[in-house]
Amino acid sequence: RPERQRKPDWIRVKAPTSAGFAATRALMRSKSLTTVCEEAACPNIGECWSKKHATVMILGDTCTRACAFCNVKTGMPRAVDAMEPNNVADAAVQMGLEHIVITSVDRDDLPDGGAKQFVKVIEAIRKASPTTTIEILTPDFRNKHEQAVEMIVAARPDVYNHNLETVPRLYPTIRPGARYYASIRLLETVKKLDPSIFTKSGVMLGLGEERLEVHQVMDDMRSADIDFLTMGQYLQPTPRHAKVQDFVTPAAFDAYAAIARAKGFLLVASSPLTRSSYHAGDDFAKMKAA
Ligand code: SF4
Ligand code: SF4
Repeated sequence: RPERQRKPDWIRVKAPTSAGFAATRALMRSKSLTTVCEEAACPNIGECWSKKHATVMILGDTCTRACAFCNVKTGMPRAVDAMEPNNVADAAVQMGLEHIVITSVDRDDLPDGGAKQFVKVIEAIRKASPTTTIEILTPDFRNKHEQAVEMIVAARPDVYNHNLETVPRLYPTIRPGARYYASIRLLETVKKLDPSIFTKSGVMLGLGEERLEVHQVMDDMRSADIDFLTMGQYLQPTPRHAKVQDFVTPAAFDAYAAIARAKGFLLVASSPLTRSSYHAGDDFAKMKAA
C-alpha cells in the first residue's frame, strides 16, 4: 500500500468539531446539497463551516472527468435535479450568507455542459436573497464554452471564477481533458461580454511547476484581464492521486503574492491553505469597500 506523504508543520488543520460545523452539515443534508468542501476533502472545512462558509457543488456529486488531483468521484452522473436551484437559494437564506460560492462537477454529458443550471441557481439566489453576492466557479464547458459563458454572464454573477489549476506543461498528467488556452479564453470571454463582472482564477502549487512557469501563468492571466488570483499548496487527497512534488514554504507563497500584486491583480490570496473559495466572501467585501 503506498505511503502517505508527511506534511510540513505549516500545514496545520483544526479538527471540525464546532457547533457551527454541525449546523452547516445538517443544513446541507436537509437540502440534499453536495459541497466541494466535503467532496474535495478540503483541509479548511473545520474553519469555514464553523463560520458558515461553504461552497455548494451543483449538478451532482459525480464528474465526467478524472483529474489527477481531484477527489470527486468519476462516472456517469445522475439526471439534473430540478429542485436544486431552490434548495441552494434556501440554504443561502437560512445561513444568512453575504457571499455564496457555487461550483459544479464537469458535465460533458449534457448538451449545455450544465450552463442552464448555473443560470437557474443564480436567478433563484437573486430572488430569495438579493443582497447576497454570487461567485460561480465553473468547468471549462469544453467545446461549447462561448454559448455557455454567454448564457451565464447574462445572469450577472458578481464573480466568475474558473481555475487554471497548474502550469501548461503539467496539463497532460494533471488536468487531462482540459486545454490551458481554452481556460484562459473562457475568462477573457467573460470580461469582454461584461467588464463589470470580476474574473478570478487559481493554481495549485507543489505539483512540480517551476517558479518562472508560475510567473508566466500570472502574465497569461493578466493578459486576459483576470482580476483575482488564488494560489495554494496541492495536497494529495488519497495515495491514488498525483503525488506532492514539493511543499512550497509560506515565504515562497508571500513572494508569489508580491509578484502577483505587482502584475496588477486586484485581489491575491496566496498561502499553503488557500483554496479557490477560502475567505472568498471576506476578501471580496474588503476589496469592494476599499
Ligand atoms: Fe469549502 Fe472553500 Fe472553505 Fe474549503 S476553502 S472548506 S472548499 S469554502
Ligand atoms: Fe474534479 Fe473538476 Fe476535474 Fe471533475 S473536472 S475531476 S470535479 S477537478
